[in-house]
Amino acid sequence: MFQAPAGVFIEPEFLQTLDPRQLKSGYAEVLKHWLIADAAAFEQHRRLGWLTDDWTPIIRESVALKQRIVAQDPLESGPRKLLNFGHTVGHALESYLLNQPGREALHGEAVAAGLVCESWLSVQRGLLSADEARQNRNLRVFGVR
Ligand SMILES: [Zn+2]
Repeated sequence: MFQAPAGVFIEPEFLQTLDPRQLKSGYAEVLKHWLIADAAAFEQHRRLGWLTDDWTPIIRESVALKQRIVAQDPLESGPRKLLNFGHTVGHALESYLLNQPGREALHGEAVAAGLVCESWLSVQRGLLSADEARQNRNLRVFGVR
């Protein structure tokens, strides 16, 4: 059963307490939102990279995008499944690495790898062009090549 939260409180200053690896991991989820729903924003941020002093507009944009998708499909019977992009492979990788001492992946790191793998699968199924998949693969923010 899905239940909408009563509220979501976000304090961007808290992000300043995180190390860069954690920030980059979280940014993978933001990039995922742009990949599935806003190609122009994805392209703009792909060029800028993930380092920023002000996360507020990025968080605002990402949360609004997720809210739009969830509002369209509160029971995850259609478009909301897009939010799982990168997570099928990502969760498998995350679980696998959990049992590899010293090689654990953060959630966003695993999702980033999942985005690349699932983009490749989409090309194989004719759902994504090779050029689009190449752009996804070249996410320099993740260091994935
Ligand atoms: Zn996730």
